[in-house]
Amino acid sequence: MKTIDDLGDLRGKRVLVRSDLNVPLDGGTITDDGRIRASAPTISDLSDRGARVIVCAHLGRPKGAPDPAYSLAPVADRMAEVLGRPVQFATDTVGDAAQAAVAALGDGDVVVLENLRFDPGETSKDDAERSAFADRLAALADAYVGDGFGALHRKHASVYDVPARLPHAVGGLVRKEIEVLERLTGDPDRPYVVVLGGSKVSDKLGVIDNLLGRVDRLVIGGGMVFTFLKAQGHEVGKSLLEQDQVDAVRSSVEQAAAKGVEIVLPVDIVAATSLDADADIDVVAADAIPADRIGADIGPRSAELFAGKIRDARTVFWNGPMGVFEQEAFADGTRAVAEALTEVDGLTVVGGGDSAAAVRQLGFAEDRFGHISTGGGASLEFLEGKTLPGLTALTDSTDTKG
Ligand code: ADP
Ligand code: MG
Repeated sequence: MKTIDDLGDLRGKRVLVRSDLNVPLDGGTITDDGRIRASAPTISDLSDRGARVIVCAHLGRPKGAPDPAYSLAPVADRMAEVLGRPVQFATDTVGDAAQAAVAALGDGDVVVLENLRFDPGETSKDDAERSAFADRLAALADAYVGDGFGALHRKHASVYDVPARLPHAVGGLVRKEIEVLERLTGDPDRPYVVVLGGSKVSDKLGVIDNLLGRVDRLVIGGGMVFTFLKAQGHEVGKSLLEQDQVDAVRSSVEQAAAKGVEIVLPVDIVAATSLDADADIDVVAADAIPADRIGADIGPRSAELFAGKIRDARTVFWNGPMGVFEQEAFADGTRAVAEALTEVDGLTVVGGGDSAAAVRQLGFAEDRFGHISTGGGASLEFLEGKTLPGLTALTDSTDTKG
């Protein structure tokens, strides 16, 4: 993998950096700037080397057309604060505004382009449409740096097609992320415990199946756990449930048993009348969720159980909150798991946008964890053993020479 050093003297060169600036927004306010702070060192480094830095990224899921709710403008402002230097903002992706902004860059200057997903070419499954957009992006720059770890699993123009068109290198953030994940897929110290939560079991079943041959223990909470409870024959009331995944979950659980992997499920659940702050809340047994209730968090006995199953591990990977942590009333399970990770004597990795936001929101110092990954889907797919299109594009041996 080529690094920024391999790109040679960058003074006067226009360098396009693909970052992951997909931060959570509440209205126009950034509620967690972790990905901006994680992306800043590579941008600073390029700027210090005299490059003319063009930052590109996506935000949320706009529908291939400009949508002010998903503008990267507030992110560019925050980036300027984090970098401690001015950051220009181009009000389009590859159009007149972007071209003018790039032409105006001096050595060391930084511009952020508008949300790449405002152009349908960025995410298009049609190679020609994606290629056309990639051509225009590549035309803005002399070199490319891939640093958007959270987007590496996407076969998108800025991630997959642009590096083939320019001399390219991998950024420091991606290097760091891959280094840590390789420790998890290599020969991790045991016990190796994986904790999974969050909302979609269909997103995470692949990783579960792939990990069964490697982990000692799987601890499962969050919204996805109700599909597990259902697979065991329990009713889950109005909780999140992916009915079409019940059979797949059942077969995963059987495989786990056959391979001697311990699966730890909650024994009690915080059952609420709604997910609002003023909901009525009771703790119920995991096999007795009332028909009119939503499971919003693991219960206190489960929190204690999970913490015990985590603390004695030597390697832990955690993805997905244990409950609807955005509401304080449903944050205790996530807090207990985070706390247990900080007590582990070994490598702890927190992956996933919401999980990373959760530990910060709950007031945990980042240095109490071994590594907080900026990528959810990307880290899961890496652990699943899938090839990440963005990584393939960066490591491609048919590199264009600069
Ligand atoms: P990550 O971004 O860390 O990969 P996910 O996106 O998979 O995590 O899931 C995060 C979301 O899961 C949070 O918004 C949280 O509110 C939600 N969640 C957790 N537990 C539940 C639950 N019991 N019911 C509904 N949603 C839940
Ligand atoms: Mg998420």
